[in-house]
Amino acid sequence: MKTDSISPLPAPLFDLPFEGSERAAELIARINEFLLGELDALARTHGVDHEHGADRSLLQQVWKRSQALGFYGMTLPQAMGGLDLSVLDHVLIKEAIYASGSPFAPHVLGELSGPPRVGALARQATPWQLQQFITPVAQAEKAICFALTESEAGSDAGAVQTRAVRDGDDFVIDGRKRFISGSPFADYAVLMASTASDPAQREITAFFVDLKSPGVRVESGYKTMAGQSHTGDIVLESCRVPSANLIGAPGRGLALALGRITVNRLLHCPAMLGLAQVALRDARDYALQRRQFGRAIGEFQAIQHMLADMATELSAARALMLGTARQIDAGSEARAEASMAKLFCSETAFRIADRAVQIHGGEGIVQGRRVEFLFRMLRMYRVLTGTSEIQRNTIARELLAPRA
Ligand SMILES: Cc1cc2nc3c(=O)[nH]c(=O)nc-3n(C[C@H](O)[C@H](O)[C@H](O)COP(=O)(O)OP(=O)(O)OC[C@H]3O[C@@H](n4cnc5c(N)ncnc54)[C@H](O)[C@@H]3O)c2cc1C
Repeated sequence: MKTDSISPLPAPLFDLPFEGSERAAELIARINEFLLGELDALARTHGVDHEHGADRSLLQQVWKRSQALGFYGMTLPQAMGGLDLSVLDHVLIKEAIYASGSPFAPHVLGELSGPPRVGALARQATPWQLQQFITPVAQAEKAICFALTESEAGSDAGAVQTRAVRDGDDFVIDGRKRFISGSPFADYAVLMASTASDPAQREITAFFVDLKSPGVRVESGYKTMAGQSHTGDIVLESCRVPSANLIGAPGRGLALALGRITVNRLLHCPAMLGLAQVALRDARDYALQRRQFGRAIGEFQAIQHMLADMATELSAARALMLGTARQIDAGSEARAEASMAKLFCSETAFRIADRAVQIHGGEGIVQGRRVEFLFRMLRMYRVLTGTSEIQRNTIARELLAPRA
C-alpha cells in the first residue's frame, strides 16, 4: 500500500444507523483514533504496509499498546479481563478495524497470535496452563498460534498424522504442521496431535507446545499470494512435551478446536467485508477523480452500475453477517447460517475487489496499488478456515438433516 494513505477517517459509504451497543460505538471511535493516529505514524516510520510486515519487536509494541488501551484482551472471558462482548458487537468492532485499511488491523485484537487464539480454551485450561500460557498471551508478553492443518489433513482435519506418544510424564511428538498463521513469530502453539495407539484410528488431542523447546522448529520460507509471510510450517522431531501441557481430555482435541467453529466462521466475515469496503471506497474515489473522454469515469453508466452492484452485494453480505450474529446472540446454533455467511461474504468480497480493480483500469493491476493487494488478499478467504466447498457441504448437511 505505497500510494494510498489510511488517514484521516474515511467518510461512511452510506448514512446508516449504528447497529451495535453504545459501548461498541465508543470502542470503535477509540480504536479508530489508535489506528489512524499512533499506528499510522508507526507504520510510516517503519515502512510497514500490507506486504512489508513488522518484525516481532515492532508487533509486540503494537500488542502492548493495544493491551494498555484495553483493546487487546477484549474478546477474552470476563474473568480474564475481557468485555463479554455480544457477537454482534464483536463483528461490528472487527469490521471497523479492517475497514480502516490499516496494515496493523490483525494485531489490534490480536487475532493472528493473541487472545482470540486462546479465548475458547481458557475454560478448559488448568490453573497452571492459565498462568504459563494464557496469561502471558493476554498480557501481550507472548504470542500463540493454532496448529491443526497438515499436508495430508486440510479440509479433512481429522486425518492428522502428527503423533504424540506417551513416555513417562511426557508425550513425544513427531510430525509437521502446514500453513500455520502467526507461527513465524509465535512463542507457543495450541497443537493437535493423534494419541491413538493404532495410526488408523482418529483420536486427536490438543497440547500447548513451546516453540522454543528442543525438537521444534518453524519453517517460514514461503509467502502467500497476498505477499505476506505470516504463515509457516511447524516441524516436530522427538519433541518432548510434559503431560501437564495436554489441554482438556485426551481424544477431545478436535471437539475443542471445532467447538466454536460456528462463531469462528462468522468472525472471519467482518475482516472480509471491512476490506471489501476499502475496495469499494477506493473504486468510488477513483471513479470520481479519473477523467477520460473529457469527464470523470464515474459519469459513465457502466462504471456507475459496477459501483451499484458492489454496494448492493456488500449490503446483502453485511445483512447476512449481522443477522447471523444476532441469531447466535439469541442462543441459536446457526450452524448453516454461519457457513452461509462465510461462503457468501468471502465470494462477495472477492467479486467486489475484482470490480474495484476493473474500475482502476491499468492502475489497478500495478503492484503496490491498494486494490491490487485487496484482490489478492480477498481471494484467499475463499480457501481459509473452511473452503467454500466445505461451507456448502455444511449448509447442505443441515438442510438435508431429518427434522423432528
Ligand atoms: C494463509 C493461510 C493461513 C492458514 N492458517 C491456518 C492456521 O493458523 N491453522 C491451521 O490449522 N490451518 C491454517 N490454514 C489451513 C487452512 O485451514 C486450509 O488450507 C484449508 O482448510 C483447506 O485445506 P487444504 O489447503 O488442505 O485444501 P484441501 O482440503 O486439499 O482442498 C483442496 C480442494 O478440494 C476441495 N475439497 C476438499 N474436501 C472436499 C469435500 N469433502 N467436498 C468438496 N470439496 C472438497 C476444497 O474445497 C478445495 O477446493 C491456513 C491456510 C492458509 C492458506
